[in-house]
Amino acid sequence: MTLLIGTAGVPSSSRGRDTLLGIERIKAIGLGAMEVEWVRGLRMSDELASKVNKLAKHLDVKLTGHGPYWINLNASEKEKFEQSKQRVLKTARTGFKCGCTSVTFHTAYYMKQEPKVVYEKLKKILKDICKTLENEGTKVKISLETTGKESQFGTVNEILSLSQEIDMIGICVDFAHVFARSIGKINSYDQFREILVKIENKLGKKAIKNMHIHLSGIEYGNTGERNHLFLEQSKLNYKDVLRALKDFKAEGILITESPDPQADALLVQRVYRSL
Ligand SMILES: [Zn+2]
Repeated sequence: MTLLIGTAGVPSSSRGRDTLLGIERIKAIGLGAMEVEWVRGLRMSDELASKVNKLAKHLDVKLTGHGPYWINLNASEKEKFEQSKQRVLKTARTGFKCGCTSVTFHTAYYMKQEPKVVYEKLKKILKDICKTLENEGTKVKISLETTGKESQFGTVNEILSLSQEIDMIGICVDFAHVFARSIGKINSYDQFREILVKIENKLGKKAIKNMHIHLSGIEYGNTGERNHLFLEQSKLNYKDVLRALKDFKAEGILITESPDPQADALLVQRVYRSL
């Protein structure tokens, strides 16, 4: 595998918004991957998931999945917690049926609790979720996304620690989020490289050869992420992200979530190949 570039969701030039047409379009415009977006809810039938799986394999388009935004595994209300847990399970199950190499989602909010306390809670919950998935034969990598806001669980260190402790758990490095969360401070080649070194040290070379990455433009405020932008409109030094990935021989899937993911995915692919 190499580093395959793709869009968050169906590309803009697709003649329809459904996942199957999206996969065909990815192939036609010369991209290598697509993230199936279940961010506003997951209603995909098993029948469609298996069609998606077959078509993606046939066209050699690699898939990842993104779970619903309404997930907070640290929710204090029992009902909200249960719903979050079910959404995680469903994301993993549907992702597996679609043949996704990895699924991601935003794990939790701190809810004003100590990060360490939240970490321990999540560790227990995720172990439990992964055991359920393992027992039923759902084999998919769950890559927790590094988050862009201070109020959200999900620093690089937190997620790497969880992935060291739980087999099924991996990391989805969202470089825009890392940049926004640092209020623009993490924005150089060396700092991007340092993240890759950390991943290799903690999870081994195999993690570098099978990455799940997000890269988009982003605007930030005092507490982190505000909204996604086009790469060229953002202060994020995305070319250095790509240089670091290329020099480090990182492989896997890189997804862009810009306002027009297709335009930025093609840009990223062009720049990456020119390095
Ligand atoms: Zn996300």
